[in-house]
Amino acid sequence: MQNNINEKKYSAYESFDYLKRNDDYEYFELSNELTETPTHSIELTDVQEETFAHLFHKHTVVSLRDHGFILPKDHSAIIPYCKQLHTFYHYEGIAQSGIDVIFENFMDGISLTQSKSGLKWNEVIDLLGIRYADIAKQETVYIATTYEDVIQAKDRKQVALIPSLEAANVIENELDRVDILYGLGIRCLGLTYNDANTIGTGLSENETSGLTNFGKRVVDRMNKIGMLIDISHCNEQTSFDAIEASEDPIFITHAGAKGVWNTPRMKSDELLKACAEKGGVIGICAAPNTTLSPNHQGHTIDSVMEHTEYIIDLVGIDHVAFGPDTIFGDHIALQQAFDRLLQLSESHEHEDKSAEAKECVVGVENPMESIKNMTRWLLNKGYSKADVAKIISGNALRVIEQVFNK
Ligand SMILES: [Zn+2]
Repeated sequence: MQNNINEKKYSAYESFDYLKRNDDYEYFELSNELTETPTHSIELTDVQEETFAHLFHKHTVVSLRDHGFILPKDHSAIIPYCKQLHTFYHYEGIAQSGIDVIFENFMDGISLTQSKSGLKWNEVIDLLGIRYADIAKQETVYIATTYEDVIQAKDRKQVALIPSLEAANVIENELDRVDILYGLGIRCLGLTYNDANTIGTGLSENETSGLTNFGKRVVDRMNKIGMLIDISHCNEQTSFDAIEASEDPIFITHAGAKGVWNTPRMKSDELLKACAEKGGVIGICAAPNTTLSPNHQGHTIDSVMEHTEYIIDLVGIDHVAFGPDTIFGDHIALQQAFDRLLQLSESHEHEDKSAEAKECVVGVENPMESIKNMTRWLLNKGYSKADVAKIISGNALRVIEQVFNK
């Protein structure tokens, strides 16, 4: 595989190079995925290889969820590392990802600077400020807040980051915080994480509670201002209510199908269809323990792509994208560190415990291989260039343009 395909500018900058390590902030040794991870590739014929290259050269490649976040090498240091805010961003790896546009949530749930549970207003503001400071010092990525910004990524030889938040807990009961977050660059907001909040109910809560009356006002404000709505971590009722309440299409940025793997984190056929009927798009997730399948041992690109094909068959090629949700480092260690705080095990609960992923997701381990390998898998399977272009680019861009250009 051509590792340098659609490669972006990178000038050897490492996060917080403008500060002195262990003097201005506590430095943690980082996992090094560029040199330590075996890169998996999918063999293509010469013709397919040409199509692959053409797709990445001509189309604005979008990931509905990936992270430049780098984990520390020592897993017991994960929480202290997150708490001190100066977490590192893998500019070099992101430059080699082949992706043009990333919905980036800056790991907003896990800074824990002021609370034990995360997702607090002050924590999110702290996190955005410090990430923007670091981003201001480098040239690989830029913050994109308009559709025009988004589609410039290829010409600029940079990656457009669309600032996103995993959950709207930070709004509390302050409707104007939608506008404040918009003013701070946020363009995509998950209505809930796995818990309930003032807006709606997360997927680890009961099944009958839906969007609150206040939540409907939040959806209305997001529609008015032009902020994308994400229901990836909402329970089914809240998701249906949000689709009905919103005048715009909605994103499920990172999920999979209950029809393949029945856990709370996956979406039912009815919900996937409702999302598509509204014009929305579903991003296929590849985070460990999400898109598993009884047909595959462990979590691999094949089980991830089984979800992709299932959802394509169910809702059509125009409503599917990729939201692999990868990071740099041991993603399982990260899930274990934050399991109790974010109800991760509950969201992945399945009767078949033996299927739990204990290792990384082979073939979709970090952003350097996620979208590239998922694209190669589709080409290897015989999908047409036009259909692949919709999945990696056109479908997401259609909704971004519609919502951002109101
Ligand atoms: Zn998530």
